[in-house]
Order: sequence, then structure tokens, then C-alpha cells
Amino acid sequence: MAEELKPYIRIENAIKEFPSGSGVVRALDGLSLVIYPGEFVVVNGESGSGKSTLLNIIGCMDELTDGKLEIFGEDMTKLTEKERTVFRRRDVGFVFQEYHLMPELSANENVEFIAELADDPLSVDEVIEAVGLKDEADRRPGQLSGGQQQKIAIARAIVKKPRIILADEPTAALDSESSKEVLHAFEKFIREENKKREPEQRTAFVLITHNREIAKMADKVVLMKNGRIVSVVSQQEPCSAEMLEL
Ligand code: ADP
Ligand code: MG
Repeated sequence: MAEELKPYIRIENAIKEFPSGSGVVRALDGLSLVIYPGEFVVVNGESGSGKSTLLNIIGCMDELTDGKLEIFGEDMTKLTEKERTVFRRRDVGFVFQEYHLMPELSANENVEFIAELADDPLSVDEVIEAVGLKDEADRRPGQLSGGQQQKIAIARAIVKKPRIILADEPTAALDSESSKEVLHAFEKFIREENKKREPEQRTAFVLITHNREIAKMADKVVLMKNGRIVSVVSQQEPCSAEMLEL
């Protein structure tokens, strides 16, 4: 069904090179990929395969050396730096391995702060509850576990209701129980919040991880190697976070 929708993200023949010593490293080597509204995509691949580079390109934090990037039908390679910043702020929620929270603000205030900058945010209270942090809402990051801090980071990404959420190794620093909880927070949002929206307005979620088990949760699993895509597999019945063997 997703295939009838217009893609949110279309990457074609993407090449990304970084200078390295006297030569260059090719982090993306002719990669093509299409991502649709509402899709939950997991990108797997060994360390160095180009996953983070791909995510940084989709999030317009970095630019391609060559190739095409279209998001919401727009040629992103033509945007100015300012337009790229507006795109990131309005349309993308980022979650990283590190939590990047403001240490002086409570959990609630960390989320509130982002909600205030958004055009049409979700309710802060509802999002805090959805990620399971209702009882910790008044605590500062330093008073919370790693898993709880990551849930605030997720709440921040979710609350601004972006059309795209990008997560780079969000559970890499967490133990297996916290990882499951964090993945459950994502899953809950993706499945429940998206159900309330028209298919063409649903949030696409791209999660990058070297962990193959996490891929069982995805609608679509993309496997990368040496800057290329080795396989793309659609899963009709994705597994829920609590069933994962992490
Ligand atoms: P992954 O996230 O899958 O571990 P990366 O996208 O971080 O892979 O890296 C892909 C390749 O590009 C690696 O060889 C890495 O060393 C190289 N690379 C990534 N970012 C840079 C950079 N800023 N400068 C130079 N080389 C880089
Ligand atoms: Mg990486």
C-alpha cells in the first residue's frame, strides 16, 4: 500500500567522498533508496559501511559529492544553507547515541523547549506519557538513567511532529532492557500516532543500527556494505520491541 504514495525521500546514485590523507574515502558509492510516508526503515551494516553518512545526507547535515536527493518532491541539492536549516528544524526529528539534552532543564522542560519552536506540536504531556516518563517529568537529565534520558530525546524528536525521524544508533549505549524500552517508545509512537493521520502525512522513521536483531521491528530492512545497498527486504509482520532478543 505504501508503494502507491509519493515518496518522502528519494536518493539516486548518491556519491559521498571525504578527503583522507592524500586521497579520498568514498562513504557512499552509488547508493539509491526510496522511503515512503509512514515507513519504519532500519538500516543495518557493519561499522564503516556508510550508515551515518547516509543519515547525515538525508537530514541535510551534509551534502552529496554527486547524485540526487529529493525530499517531499524537492531537489535538496539546490537549497541554500538557510533553507536546509529550516528543513531540519521543521521536518526532521533527530535522535543520536548521545542524548544531547539540556542539563539545567527538567525532562518536561527539555521537551517543552522544542515544542515551543514548532508550528504545530503535539501535547508535551501526552508525549512524555507516551514514552513512559510521566513520573520522572520534573527530574533533570542528571537524575535519570541512560534509557530514561534517551526517552526524553525521543520525546523531543516526536513532539514537533516532524515528517521524518532519523535515529543513529539510539540504543548503542544502553543495556538490553533499556534498549527494548527505548525501541518500544519509538514503536508506540510510530504505530499509534501514525494511525491517526492520513497515509500521505505519516512520519517516516529511519533507524540506523549495526544490530541485526533490531531490524526485525522494521517494515523495511536496508543492508549496507561499503557505501552501497546490498539488499532491501520488506517485512509484512514486523516484530514488536519486547520480542527482540537483545
Ligand atoms: P557507519 O556509520 O556505518 O559506521 P560512516 O558513515 O560513519 O559509517 O563512515 C563511512 C566511511 O566514511 C568510513 O570509512 C569513515 O571512516 C568515512 N568517514 C565518515 N565521515 C567522515 C569524515 N567526516 N571525514 C573522513 N572520513 C569519514
Ligand atoms: Mg555510524
